[in-house]
Amino acid sequence: MPSDPLDILKRVFGFQSFRPLQEEIVARILDGQDAFVLMPTGGGKSLCFQLPALLRQGVGIVVSPLISLMKDQVDALRASGVRAAYYNSSLGQKAARQVLAELHAGQLDLLYIAPERLMSPGFLERLRDMDVALIAIDEAHCISQWGHDFRPEYTQLGVLRRSFPGVPLVALTATADVQTRQDILSRLELDDDDCFVTSFDRPNIRYTVLEKHQPARQLMKFLAGHGSEAGIVYALSRKRVEEVAKKLCDAGLSAAAYHAGLGDGERQRVQDEFLRDELQIVVATVAFGMGIDKSNVRFVVHYDLPKNIEGYYQETGRAGRDGLAAEALLLFGYGDIALCRGLIEKGHNEEQNRIELHKLNAMASFAEALTCRRQVLLGYFGEHATEDCGNCDICLQPPETYDATEDARKALSCVYRVGQRFGAGHVIDVLRGTRNERMLRLGHDRLSTYGIGADVSRDAWGSLVRQLVHRGYLYQDVGNYSVLRLTEKARPLLRGEITLQLAKPRIKVKAVKKPSSRSASEWSYDVALFDALRTLRKQIADHEHVPPFV
Ligand code: ADP
Ligand code: MG
Repeated sequence: MPSDPLDILKRVFGFQSFRPLQEEIVARILDGQDAFVLMPTGGGKSLCFQLPALLRQGVGIVVSPLISLMKDQVDALRASGVRAAYYNSSLGQKAARQVLAELHAGQLDLLYIAPERLMSPGFLERLRDMDVALIAIDEAHCISQWGHDFRPEYTQLGVLRRSFPGVPLVALTATADVQTRQDILSRLELDDDDCFVTSFDRPNIRYTVLEKHQPARQLMKFLAGHGSEAGIVYALSRKRVEEVAKKLCDAGLSAAAYHAGLGDGERQRVQDEFLRDELQIVVATVAFGMGIDKSNVRFVVHYDLPKNIEGYYQETGRAGRDGLAAEALLLFGYGDIALCRGLIEKGHNEEQNRIELHKLNAMASFAEALTCRRQVLLGYFGEHATEDCGNCDICLQPPETYDATEDARKALSCVYRVGQRFGAGHVIDVLRGTRNERMLRLGHDRLSTYGIGADVSRDAWGSLVRQLVHRGYLYQDVGNYSVLRLTEKARPLLRGEITLQLAKPRIKVKAVKKPSSRSASEWSYDVALFDALRTLRKQIADHEHVPPFV
């Protein structure tokens, strides 16, 4: 029996070398320690627990949130000769008993299990009497309320670290902003030493955002440049998915709809045909894609605005897994902001809804970014790219800039003066010298920065602050009332050691009928979009401040 990781990598998994950090993670687990793995979608997280499970004594337990994902992974493992099984509600009684029998007989290398099964009475006791090689928690962000896909059945997993001393615990996710990451660590009782974070950058994906005017036409025009290449078009609702799929089919394209309202058989058919290159385009809700491993997806289009950057980044990450050039196109329209707000406000948990609104605001800010899109995305995940990427719409057609050094210094000092405890709305109120109840109550009308920016419009300040966030001079704590804080990078600017060029803020224009081609001098908004953004920001400004100032 081979006992060396590289040997298993080649013989069982059929890969020639490790991807970044895989080897280090495997080594740590083999050493009996825990790991927290943060890698983008397609980075190769599964291998990080599958491989050590084969080398360590006993069965590797894998907690996974989706039944379909479990089946796919288990099928693939079995095909490579690994003794794997899954245990979830899709199994009949007989099959379930069979799996348990194999488990007890020590005949399994890996057992995929739904969280509620693992935590059901008696199951942990079963495990305590046998050799457990490791416990892996896939899609670990599901444990956090800060995350975008919180699942109550994940919360109980917090006891695992204590219940199984000596068994390595491995948590994996592709989607964690700084706040979510900390939350996962503390809930699972992992620490900073356990963290393995690979770069989230996907340099081969070109990000483009277009204001949405005639979306069907804009989509057709985009597709015309992609011949028969494979791609995914995401839309927010089932209805919209059906409509778009029909339009594409009517235009003679090979396309199909995919959403949770379709039967299992139909969904499976669409997925299989897409994987086999028999279907060119899948038009889908976010129900499509988790765990789908297709390397030659050449484009991902968001026909509607996604609700948060985590989801957007995960979905666009399905393009270009083979490393070849790929495109991500987002259509950004005013109706979507209202639609997303509506969806969020349907939620029952007020705290959760508030966080989601802040995440939506960050998503909208990405969509209207005037700085390198990749920097915005990476910055959101706590990674700081210093150079413009050269492969996004902004880098390829940069907006006109001006010397913003003085204004930027004013804004940064104001963030400092209000104690780094407030969001953009209040900071701008102070700069502009707004007299409102909160200002007087806090005594912020006595600050030295009060009213120093009255000559600049509220919208222009908004644009400037967003650019400072996007360029990493300010940190906007999205999970914490979108409070603004200074970063290290802000210091030389505040001390007057450097100057800063920023994009001129956009101006609003009357409703545009035709998607105009953009040129450096005409960065403009449709007035409806402008107003939708303003309404969203007003709404969140009400709670953009850290308690106890509530
Ligand atoms: P994630 O869970 O991080 O999204 P997966 O574990 O599903 O990613 O892996 C994505 C793809 O990368 C899969 O097709 C997998 O087989 C492949 N892969 C993983 N590790 C390697 C490697 N070391 N060499 C080549 N391909 C790999
Ligand atoms: Mg995975």
